[in-house]
Amino acid sequence: MDYYDYIIVGGGASGLMSAYRMSKDVFFDDKTILILDKVKKNSNDRTWCYWETENDEWNDIASASWKNIIFKSELYKTKESIAPYRYKMIRSRDFYTKIFTHLKTKPNITFQLANVLDIQQRAGTAEVITTDTIFKTKTVLNSILFNDAYKNQTKYPVLQQHFVGFFIRTKKNYFDESAATFMDFTVAQKGNTRFMYVLPYAKNEALFEYTLFSKELLPYDHYKSEIEKYLKDKNITDYEIIEKEQGSIPMTSYKFWKNNSKNIIHIGTAGGWSKASTGFTFKNTTNKTAQLIKHIKEGKSLTKFHKVKKFWFYDVLLLDILSKQNELGASIFGKMFQKNHPNQILKFLDEETSFLEDLKIQLKMPIWLFINALLKRIF
Ligand SMILES: Cc1cc2nc3c(=O)[nH]c(=O)nc-3n(C[C@H](O)[C@H](O)[C@H](O)COP(=O)(O)OP(=O)(O)OC[C@H]3O[C@@H](n4cnc5c(N)ncnc54)[C@H](O)[C@@H]3O)c2cc1C
Repeated sequence: MDYYDYIIVGGGASGLMSAYRMSKDVFFDDKTILILDKVKKNSNDRTWCYWETENDEWNDIASASWKNIIFKSELYKTKESIAPYRYKMIRSRDFYTKIFTHLKTKPNITFQLANVLDIQQRAGTAEVITTDTIFKTKTVLNSILFNDAYKNQTKYPVLQQHFVGFFIRTKKNYFDESAATFMDFTVAQKGNTRFMYVLPYAKNEALFEYTLFSKELLPYDHYKSEIEKYLKDKNITDYEIIEKEQGSIPMTSYKFWKNNSKNIIHIGTAGGWSKASTGFTFKNTTNKTAQLIKHIKEGKSLTKFHKVKKFWFYDVLLLDILSKQNELGASIFGKMFQKNHPNQILKFLDEETSFLEDLKIQLKMPIWLFINALLKRIF
């Protein structure tokens, strides 16, 4: 059989979350759903963090959570409670296991290993082309970036949030498990926006992730030596590396959704669901998949799903600034945290603040930089 009612291309975070939501909704019980991925996801290939109130949908698979966050820069340092939020960590293996265990109970949902080469809008249907088969469907939910169109345009700058993380275990108890370091900009900036991200999930275990918001990736050894230096500066020398992770998330206001068509919608990072100014995607995907399933059930056009919000434009300005003056990240985020409570910043990054609340945050930031960027955009 090569026809399915729905085909989910890419069984990662957004694809599996979409399938999970469909599986929980009786509307889809008599619909055939195919998930295609080139690998069966079952490893810790990423660690997802996000902030939420105490009880949320993924609580059962959160492997750690923090009541406090630490922010550090030369300008300002703070450790603050973020109640009623908690900063939560999910290991991807737990997420994949939860979803696949549930999907196995649904005979209408099939997972198939396949290398997807392309998807095509045809008259009234869509085709998903793999190395072996051409599948047909009325609705494709696609999470694969098939080309570099977002990199090859010049209208919106493209930065990457790129990082290498080491999960380390120390011999002695060393860490304060009550606080996650959201951003530590006291590391050498070297003309970029660079920070350390630290998640102490046990007294003797923590993830140290050396992260940049910049255009060019670094050689692997560079991230590695920066983590080693950071640990040495903190007198952490008796450790072993128990796991590693590495990633690069596009940071751009490029309109990924403009490629949505009658029978194809792009989801996840490929759909523009990664927040351009931070790379955070997981919580947005949680919300967007719920909205998308409702949208599909209501029979609404896939091209009408995406709504451009004011936050998209704020991100345009920040990325305009950081793409030209990449060294300014530490001072922009420093001022943001110095003058605003972290909860207000988290609400702003969640795109839930009112216009008045936005203004209160923005007026406390280096406002001339943003006005300058705005004028350049307009003229
Ligand atoms: C290491 C790492 C850590 C991250 N941490 C966070 C975090 O803490 N918080 C947060 O909010 N976001 C985080 N992100 C960003 C974002 O949440 C993740 O990238 C998330 O997995 C994006 O979901 P997605 O569905 O768009 O893509 P993916 O989860 O990458 O899913 C895409 C799927 O497509 C499959 N695929 C690709 N090409 C093909 C092909 N040709 N044929 C068939 N299948 C294919 C892949 O195997 C994959 O399963 C992180 C990203 C990385 C890489």
